[in-house]
Amino acid sequence: MSIVTERPLDPGHAKTRNTLRTVGPILIVLGLVLIVLGIAGIFLVSPVCIVLAFVGMPVLFVGSSMSMFGFVGRMARYQAQEVAPVAKDTFNYMAKGTSDGVRTMASALGQGLREGGFGGSSQMMVRCHQCNALVPDGATFCSQCGQTLGKTKPCPGCQELNELDAKFCDNCGHRFA
Ligand SMILES: [Zn+2]
Ligand SMILES: [Zn+2]
Repeated sequence: MSIVTERPLDPGHAKTRNTLRTVGPILIVLGLVLIVLGIAGIFLVSPVCIVLAFVGMPVLFVGSSMSMFGFVGRMARYQAQEVAPVAKDTFNYMAKGTSDGVRTMASALGQGLREGGFGGSSQMMVRCHQCNALVPDGATFCSQCGQTLGKTKPCPGCQELNELDAKFCDNCGHRFA
């Protein structure tokens, strides 16, 4: 499906890879020998021999890593190209699912809190521009002075209705005189 373009290997890289291919297996063997000798030594010679095993484990690990880079590097690169987009899609899908789940949970929680009477008043209150009284958000008139509330001022530029005290249109940014 995707075109694999192989970058020409520079001589330095090839040399490094050859070194990895040579040193890697040597370290694996060395590590295995150290571990085997160490474990055998615990029983045959002295418990101190466990030190050999402890030294052998990182040696084995480094050797395996070097061999992997040396031998499997090309394969791993190919796999990365093939797998990466799928992994990304899966991640996006999961992230989307998670965020949706969190959102649903949050809104359900919020609703529950409101229904249970927690979290204060569920009704947002706004101030009347005229008399500064607190009135329910969305009210058409102020209950204290009768001032018309809400978005009643049409923008000359785009006809969007704006708050009476708006200085700029919230849709097109037109400056009200
Ligand atoms: Zn008022
Ligand atoms: Zn406007």
